Amino acid sequence: MSEHNHLRKRSRSIGILAHVDAGKTTLSEQILFCTGAVRALGRVDRGDTAMDTDQIERERGITVFADQAVFEHGGRRYTLIDTPGHVDFAAEAERALAALDAAILLVDSSGGVRPHAVMLARLARKWNVPVLLFLNKCDLANSNPERTMEQAAQRLEAELVPMPADPERVAEVDEEFLEKYLEGDFTVEDCNCALSRAFCSGAAMPVLKGSAMTGDGVDELLDALDLLLPEENVQEGPLDARVYKVRRDAKGKRVTFVRINSGRISPRDTFTFGDQVEKIHEIRIYRGNRFELADEALPGDAVGLTGLTVPRCGDRLQDANGAKTITGRTAFETQPALAARVTALDGTNDSALMEKLRLLEDEDPQLGVTYDVSTKEILVRVMGPVQLEILESLLASRFGIKASFSPPRVLYRETIAAPVMGYGHYEPLRHYAETNLRLEPAERGSGISFESECHVDDLTVNYQNLIRTHVFERAHRGVLTGSELTDVKVILVAGRAHLKHTEGGDFREATYRAIRQGLMNAKNVLLEPYYRFEILVPSASSGRVMSDIPAMAGEFDPPETLGEDVRIRGRGPVATFADYSLALRSFTHGEGSAMFLMDGYDTCHNAEEVIVQTGYDPGADTEQPASSVFCSHGAGFNVPWNEAESWMHCPKMK
Ligand code: GDP
Ligand code: MG
Repeated sequence: MSEHNHLRKRSRSIGILAHVDAGKTTLSEQILFCTGAVRALGRVDRGDTAMDTDQIERERGITVFADQAVFEHGGRRYTLIDTPGHVDFAAEAERALAALDAAILLVDSSGGVRPHAVMLARLARKWNVPVLLFLNKCDLANSNPERTMEQAAQRLEAELVPMPADPERVAEVDEEFLEKYLEGDFTVEDCNCALSRAFCSGAAMPVLKGSAMTGDGVDELLDALDLLLPEENVQEGPLDARVYKVRRDAKGKRVTFVRINSGRISPRDTFTFGDQVEKIHEIRIYRGNRFELADEALPGDAVGLTGLTVPRCGDRLQDANGAKTITGRTAFETQPALAARVTALDGTNDSALMEKLRLLEDEDPQLGVTYDVSTKEILVRVMGPVQLEILESLLASRFGIKASFSPPRVLYRETIAAPVMGYGHYEPLRHYAETNLRLEPAERGSGISFESECHVDDLTVNYQNLIRTHVFERAHRGVLTGSELTDVKVILVAGRAHLKHTEGGDFREATYRAIRQGLMNAKNVLLEPYYRFEILVPSASSGRVMSDIPAMAGEFDPPETLGEDVRIRGRGPVATFADYSLALRSFTHGEGSAMFLMDGYDTCHNAEEVIVQTGYDPGADTEQPASSVFCSHGAGFNVPWNEAESWMHCPKMK
């Protein structure tokens, strides 16, 4: 196999992006059938499709997990990665996008271009994935491909080029070709190359129409892919591969899916991650839930690897100066802002439930499973209610656990508005540690960072590193509502250890107490998650929307008219906008729609109200003490936070 591999054309991964029900699964089946990758055509309504293999997906008839399959066309291998369509799974869709060479954006030509499709197109642009538009369901009597195309041109803000492409239209999207065209001196090849160039750079979005159901237009779609994605031979080079998915197979084995950008991966390759060594066992080429083993993976391939336990979505496998390593995490744009409490209904204890949720979190890192010690609650972060239904079925089908979820609620966070000192001292008998910190407000979205201004003569590097570890090892709670602290720079100003008495864990106590003591003195700010939104309504309803937005503490840019519709872009709190899609659909009689994307945290619009409602008493939170412990005559005693500063042993900074 490997002798002719270097002659192999670079394989390609493609994905189908669409709103739920546009026909993704049906089109995937049709593509696999047309290319001979599957012998029988599966159907969504019969639940026998090659993709959508998970039981939950078959039962519900919607795609939740990005599944994949391999087919050949035009002498080239393609990996087809199916992506979830529901907004609650936009995070999964974004992770899959990072692995694509091109995306087919599927739009139901009987239903029009929904904001969700607009969002997917925007995410594709962000990840530099070229997009091909397929107008589906043209077999339906009420389909209107022409109108859908007009809508697409406006809403996607793209230069649409209907295929087969007219040279005049291609000349409008590619300058190099324009010259040849004007001189009347060009070949079909020139025109195709120009279109491919415009497609790959994002300057043009080619359009095809047809029916995934009847198979009309599917051959043309495949030919278009061959034409639009330039041919490249597989080249040698240092390894660079990106993890886009982590799954457990039917036997519970962890499978890490990677897309190889350059270089090659072989079974038994080893990778280092810090001081850990990870070894690849198998390379799997997946077709739905079945796979074949391969003896190598080359550029363009999207394969599953077994044997790795560390890498998560967004991580890379790289070959830097001969050493194979697992590196860096990529920040994905779609972040959940809601949390729900998980309760087992069948007597499963909390730690067993946590363990299973951690397995799901390994596959979906944004799930952010946490245990709130103060309330003894298990929380998961989610995008919306549909995701909760899926989680519930997953817990049942994979682990036999019957669980229920509370309605999702907004996750607040806290930060500070001005620098403040924080003092912590921990000295029960035969223990000793002191940490003096300065907390400074940091940029929105930057999280917690650490820095040291403390001289190593005053506190050794080891202890300083220990303090750093304690700063990062858990979420620190704010004093307004007990929500997670964020966007704070923690600066170590001074610290002291004892030659004999400092034990492991003492600096943890001192550091936690110092942060907490600082917060008690700080100007605290409550933060809440915000959405960036795009609302599309018939002009008659735009007035209503423009008065609703400020009433929900939102803001918007000047509205734009798009044909008969008005587009309003803006930003507002998740708490007030969470149910607006429903309201909008109802008062526009289904004509209007909205797309919401997480846009980070910002000052809470109704902080007073939330603080009162939460009823959090920082002094009563015994898990997060702000006081210090000193020692006198062989016994430890508590010094309350508001008296702690003057008791500290480290000399005060000038
Ligand atoms: P997905 O949610 O995007 O994966 O969409 P599915 O492939 O599950 O299709 C949703 C529904 O639309 C199913 O009932 C399909 O049979 C139907 N469907 C998909 N493509 C077409 C098409 O081209 N024409 C017609 N008439 N129905 C289609
Ligand atoms: Mg589907």
